[in-house]
Amino acid sequence: MSVVSTKSKTSSKEEMKEEKIYDAIIIGGGPAGLTAGIYLSRARMGTLLIEKALPGGQAILTEIIENYPGFPHGITGPELMQKMEEQAVRFGLKIEYGEVVEVKIKVGKEDKKGKEDKVKIVKINNQEYRTLTIILASGAEASKLEVPGEEELRGRGVSYCATCDAPFFKDQKIVVVGGGDTAIEEALYLTKFVREVTIIHRRDRLRATKILQERVFANKKINFAWDSVATKILGKEKVEGVLIQNKKTAEEKEISCQGVFVFVGNVPNSKFLYELIKLDQKGYILTDDNMMTSQEGIYACGDVRKKLLRQVVTACGEGATAAFAAQKYIEELKGVSYK
Ligand code: NAP
Repeated sequence: MSVVSTKSKTSSKEEMKEEKIYDAIIIGGGPAGLTAGIYLSRARMGTLLIEKALPGGQAILTEIIENYPGFPHGITGPELMQKMEEQAVRFGLKIEYGEVVEVKIKVGKEDKKGKEDKVKIVKINNQEYRTLTIILASGAEASKLEVPGEEELRGRGVSYCATCDAPFFKDQKIVVVGGGDTAIEEALYLTKFVREVTIIHRRDRLRATKILQERVFANKKINFAWDSVATKILGKEKVEGVLIQNKKTAEEKEISCQGVFVFVGNVPNSKFLYELIKLDQKGYILTDDNMMTSQEGIYACGDVRKKLLRQVVTACGEGATAAFAAQKYIEELKGVSYK
């Protein structure tokens, strides 16, 4: 491993600084981050992956992944992600746990050749890590509906994860909000447990992939409230129903139910980047074709990146490209010298 180690840890008032300089720090352990980890470790780059919770990202919450090539009968999200983690660790990837709160570029001195110090700093709570490159693979998380009752009844009938919570709703009546791949896949999964599912969708056609639409329309346990939005989640101690409004007629209606599963898209985990990296209006990271962000030596891949298609397979491809681009950058930098 080519980690440059100067001193052991030094402590200032509150902060611990790791004096060694990693070649690459990957932020996020979903499919994009783990793939970058596999590539960088095989290239023998000194790499650290930092993960907030469990490696696997959102894919770990998916019951079955049917469109990742190589698994003709599908593979469960947890199994696929566990295999990716095992593969990365086998090649030497180091994984640490913690939430990154800040990424900084060290203000560098110029060396004799006029090259600036290229060290970047990744801050996790009271710890600082130094690195030559960063791969941002922090993914995205479920969007909220932002309606009354949602926050108050979260965990008491309001859920954002069917694989986590479905068994709590055995033989009950629930609603699913959303019309994308996640909403439809999760609604189908929920029918294995619940008595009845009503899908509330704000338009009169689904966004989900056609094969999922065929399955959902054929499922006798599922019915639809089209052109409708949930305006309030009802209940005191737990969910008792949902108030919906038809967008075309403005008519309001109450649906009695014990659970509300919300799948209305995602928001990127990019808040910690502040003004360092160029983001689009929604907070997705802008990159070039080689996954480089607006900052030299900082790359982005996976769901946190602005792109057309958010899938495990695209996340993996981008993770590989980001890792390869980072490797080239590191090699060039080392050829020149750095501090
Ligand atoms: P998505 O594709 O953005 O779909 C979000 C759905 O929620 C849309 O139907 C949208 O309606 C609706 N919606 C958004 N905001 C809403 C609001 N405030 N109130 C009510 N409805 C709202 O999100 P996703 O389904 O989570 O999927 C995210 C990405 O992951 C997609 O690229 C998807 O293809 C991918 N994914 C793939 C798979 C798979 O390949 N098996 C599985 C899961 C996810 P409109 O349609 O009217 O915009």
